[in-house]
Amino acid sequence: MVCQTTVNKVIEFGGRGLHTGSSVRVRILPSEENSGICFVRKDLKGAPVIPATVENVVDTCYATTIGVGSARVATVEHLMAAFYALGVDNAVVEVWGPELPILDGSAGMFVEFIERAGTRRQNAPRKIVVVTRPVRIKEGGRFVALLPPEGYGGLKIDYRMDFYYSYLESQSISIRLTPMEFKKSLSRAKTFGFLNDVEMLRENGLARGGGLDNAIVIGEENIINREIMRYEDEFVRHKVLDLIGDLALLGIRLCARVEGYRAGHYLNYRLAKKFLKKRDCWEELTAEGRLPEGLPALVLEEGFLSA
Ligand SMILES: [Zn+2]
Repeated sequence: MVCQTTVNKVIEFGGRGLHTGSSVRVRILPSEENSGICFVRKDLKGAPVIPATVENVVDTCYATTIGVGSARVATVEHLMAAFYALGVDNAVVEVWGPELPILDGSAGMFVEFIERAGTRRQNAPRKIVVVTRPVRIKEGGRFVALLPPEGYGGLKIDYRMDFYYSYLESQSISIRLTPMEFKKSLSRAKTFGFLNDVEMLRENGLARGGGLDNAIVIGEENIINREIMRYEDEFVRHKVLDLIGDLALLGIRLCARVEGYRAGHYLNYRLAKKFLKKRDCWEELTAEGRLPEGLPALVLEEGFLSA
């Protein structure tokens, strides 16, 4: 049986939010089996709880925001991606502000924090779902799709990016998600934005915490702060990081192939929502980790499914 896990001890950190620019304190605590990832707005009266689910997504503009009632937490995707990739199923994330800190713009520090705390195996089985029929979202030439796996028990992601500016070449990546691969190839890829958008966002009171060290800024003729880049093809890597974080809101472990082309938080969210509705497109593994009758055998990647 593949069991659920939680963090082994309390994790504490702080930093500025990308959009509000204000300082935010965060505490991550171990939590019970089957509780999933839950955010708690500790700075608000009554400390409202916001479960990190697809149903609770309230905004996908520039970041993924979840909320219940008037309580919200923005920019949850990088932490959610780290939880998913390192196999953390259950945790309480206490936040003293409306947004998670952007830190260095990647999920690198979240990985470090989780690894330092360690993870603890629990008794309940993980909910593992195998995609059996394609689920696709397309819009204006962009797309993202969940497809049946090709003999592999985790997530295999193929992603491509093209850019409007001719000085930027298209970027593509094909990756089998394991904790190691996430750490090495995706977790350190930084947030990026376009200079035009940054100026517009600032005028509208957003992107206040986005300095030139935590977001790569793409100008019309060149990359403004190339010196902070960590990979030549960092943009497509960050897109995949965001995609993993958005799909993590499904609250399940996916056995699937994912294809994406220039998608973003909005399309990722719509894909997750459609997937939940399309009950005939996926099957859940039994508690013993067996596939339902009639499905081809999968190589269940131990490192991925039981990290
Ligand atoms: Zn991102």
